[in-house]
Amino acid sequence: MLDIKKIRVDFPILKQQINGKPLVYLDNAATSQKPQVVIDSIVNYYTTINANIHRGVHTLSQKATDAFEQAREKLQKHFNAKKSYEIIFTAGTTHSINIVATGFTSLLQKGDELIVSAMEHHSNIVPWQMLCERTGAVLKIIPMNSAGELLMNEYGKLLSKKTKLVFVNHVSNALGTINPIKEIIDKAHQVGAAVLIDGAQSCPHIKSDVQALDVDFYVASAHKLCGPTGVGILYGKEAWLNKLPPYQGGGEMIKEVTFEKTTYADLPHKFEAGTPNIAGVIAFGTAIDYLNNLGFDNIATYENELLQYATKKLLQIEGLKIYGTSKHKTSVISFNIDKIHPYDIGTIIDKLGVEVRTGHHCAQPIMDFYKIPGTVRASFSFYNTFEEVDVLYNALIRAKTMLS
Ligand SMILES: *Cc1c(COP(=O)(O)O)cnc(C)c1O
Repeated sequence: MLDIKKIRVDFPILKQQINGKPLVYLDNAATSQKPQVVIDSIVNYYTTINANIHRGVHTLSQKATDAFEQAREKLQKHFNAKKSYEIIFTAGTTHSINIVATGFTSLLQKGDELIVSAMEHHSNIVPWQMLCERTGAVLKIIPMNSAGELLMNEYGKLLSKKTKLVFVNHVSNALGTINPIKEIIDKAHQVGAAVLIDGAQSCPHIKSDVQALDVDFYVASAHKLCGPTGVGILYGKEAWLNKLPPYQGGGEMIKEVTFEKTTYADLPHKFEAGTPNIAGVIAFGTAIDYLNNLGFDNIATYENELLQYATKKLLQIEGLKIYGTSKHKTSVISFNIDKIHPYDIGTIIDKLGVEVRTGHHCAQPIMDFYKIPGTVRASFSFYNTFEEVDVLYNALIRAKTMLS
């Protein structure tokens, strides 16, 4: 059982007032708030051990390197990677996907097929479209039903010997749907295709075991997991990471450089050119510790209670329609009220201190599927309360009265 009152004290930003009202932060699917330990971790790094890593013989550099590599081991343990060097630090999910999509350029041929789902974030669509343009590979789409669930039979029909890669988000940021990724991975492997799972939206709610999943690539962003912005991971199976060419050239990623020929460093350095976000990586490790101390099972249980309560409550509002009604979903509620534009609702409830996302949530194909311009999205974290759900409800009633 989580002590939410106590947990909220860890998050200094939550004490704030917005437009004269207590902040009700319900945009966690866009980014999470940061506990004091994560903020302290960044400040401590810069106040006590700031130095460049992997380069110096001096004490500070060694301390910084140790802290950086400890973070890698924390991430390895968290995701149960076999080797710590299978965890590559990147700037985030988008960066991680681009590393893989660019790396596949030389591995594909015209007519090869790639499979994506109908409910992806743009960052798990566009890099692959660019890959298709470069290679002549063809993109196939797993359709979904109106509840926001993938049609797994259709997925089965898309798979063939031509399929080289499948990339699907574990959880949809716009709908909250938890996809059956184990089944997706196993079916892809039966035809010899590799799988990338976009874990950006699942990571704050579900602890994934990359070995149990047998996934080839798994990507995530620290900022959705109570960590800082500008940091993320690319997990890849060792054999795949060795097969892919480096994404960027520069310092740190080489073994030997002459003007005739350069040889690349071993993993993970091959994919970590240049000075990384050292403070961010260390703070990412702190965030992972923080969440594991709370316990992912406890987090999921509490967030599911919030979701059930909020769903029931919001459905009492006449004319409110929820998009994404899968049985398996995280604490995200995407909705519209009558014909009111989501932006207008967002603007009014912001005046009441309630912060939600409005728009297409970087997932335009989903909005096209439902034939809507966008939704209002309330996304809940473990530090949100039942009282905040009530504040949201009252704010929506107020907005509806004003706008209709
Ligand atoms: C947030 C998100 C991304 C993009 O993450 P960045 O941190 O912006 O790179 C990709 N996919 C999903 C499902 C997301 O929720």
